[in-house]
Amino acid sequence: MTAPRRALIIGGSHAGLFCANLLLRAGWQVDVYERSGEELAGRGAGIVTHPELREALLRAGARVDETLGVASLGRLTIGQDGKLLGKVALPQILTAWGRIYHMLKDALPAGRCHFGRTLERIEQDGGSVSAIFADGQRETGDLLVAADGIRSTVRRQYAPQVKPVYGGYVAWRGLTDERLLSRATYEALADYLGFCLTPREQMLGYLVAGDDNEVSAGARRYNFVWYRPTDAAGKLRELLTDRAGRPHEITISPDLIRDEVVDEMRRDAERLLAPQFAEVVRLSERPFFQAIFDLESTRLAFGRVVLVGDAAFIARPHCGMGVTKAAGDAVALVDALAAAPTIEHGLAAYEAKRVAFGHAIVAHARELGAFLQAQSGSEAERVAAARHHDPEILMREVAVPPQF
Ligand SMILES: Cc1cc2nc3c(=O)[nH]c(=O)nc-3n(C[C@H](O)[C@H](O)[C@H](O)COP(=O)(O)OP(=O)(O)OC[C@H]3O[C@@H](n4cnc5c(N)ncnc54)[C@H](O)[C@@H]3O)c2cc1C
Repeated sequence: MTAPRRALIIGGSHAGLFCANLLLRAGWQVDVYERSGEELAGRGAGIVTHPELREALLRAGARVDETLGVASLGRLTIGQDGKLLGKVALPQILTAWGRIYHMLKDALPAGRCHFGRTLERIEQDGGSVSAIFADGQRETGDLLVAADGIRSTVRRQYAPQVKPVYGGYVAWRGLTDERLLSRATYEALADYLGFCLTPREQMLGYLVAGDDNEVSAGARRYNFVWYRPTDAAGKLRELLTDRAGRPHEITISPDLIRDEVVDEMRRDAERLLAPQFAEVVRLSERPFFQAIFDLESTRLAFGRVVLVGDAAFIARPHCGMGVTKAAGDAVALVDALAAAPTIEHGLAAYEAKRVAFGHAIVAHARELGAFLQAQSGSEAERVAAARHHDPEILMREVAVPPQF
């Protein structure tokens, strides 16, 4: 009997937990090291599910049933005046960040996730890989999976030249209890993923699970995402300056966002959005924003170290594929390792497959979002921009998996 091979997984969010569950079921010993001191929560954001995500969840050992999310009948677009501009049928299950997180976390045996462990650097020799943590501890294994997100410490060590590139706009996000919505707004928005187009901006919203991941009517929340052009030098810097006046790079924790910034966004919502969506924003308790980035790696494998999820590639959220791509990375990694004679061969096969997919999905999402940065874009981006500002095309292409 040989001892199982050991995988060290850095980052305990979606990508890390998909890899942990799939590697575990393929016979690996797995340990997940997460910087946060406690279970991840409160990211409250909506997630569009696709068939590939459902299949990967089942393979990861998650219990997938009718409580996965909220059924949406299709898409609709509302004009700034609140009138319906169009509707298309496109059934989908819409869920929440926390719902997927808990399904994956519950599928993993107790004791496999180690919180409050921040990776500092990695050392490798021919036969093993070691993670050195901020607390001075060292863990050694056969494989290290970097699922440590947009600001990956692992990527910084092995590919420091690969950096997120700001897309020129931010996504404001928020949630409100569905029971707080007026009857008219509820009836207009409840059964569909809804869009509202304003010049160079895009609002969308849909129902997601409520607290405790409850998906029954009355217990759900309405989730909005409002994309707004925001110039890097001026406005973005202002948004990323926290309550204590400290500037942040790339991301800012929702509780550090200044009230003035949120108040300004709320005033703009009253002025610019259809009344139904303005109401959603008004009722959302603590809206927050995320700047939108593209991230493209040229390599994913470095000896016994491999990048997955947002650490590897980030496509703008318009194709609604972040979590599905993280799941696809985990499936491709585990299959490549199972089929290869050595770990290095397996990682090379994974890299070849997922680098091609990563570039394709980033390009597709960039095209879907081009109209949000149209003034600064290339000629090709301006053509794409005009196309994706058409409600009919928008409703058929946003958050739909592309066929490559
Ligand atoms: C506005 C917006 C909307 C989105 N909408 C969707 C959608 O509809 N559908 C969809 O599928 N996806 C969506 N996404 C994307 C999705 O959230 C991510 O792609 C997905 O969660 C995969 O993330 P990840 O696990 O790779 O990284 P992350 O979730 O960023 O996790 C990285 C983890 O690593 C930990 N970490 C970081 N550094 C260290 C370290 N040094 N040591 C230890 N731990 C560390 C962090 O604490 C974190 O928990 C959206 C994203 C945005 C910004």
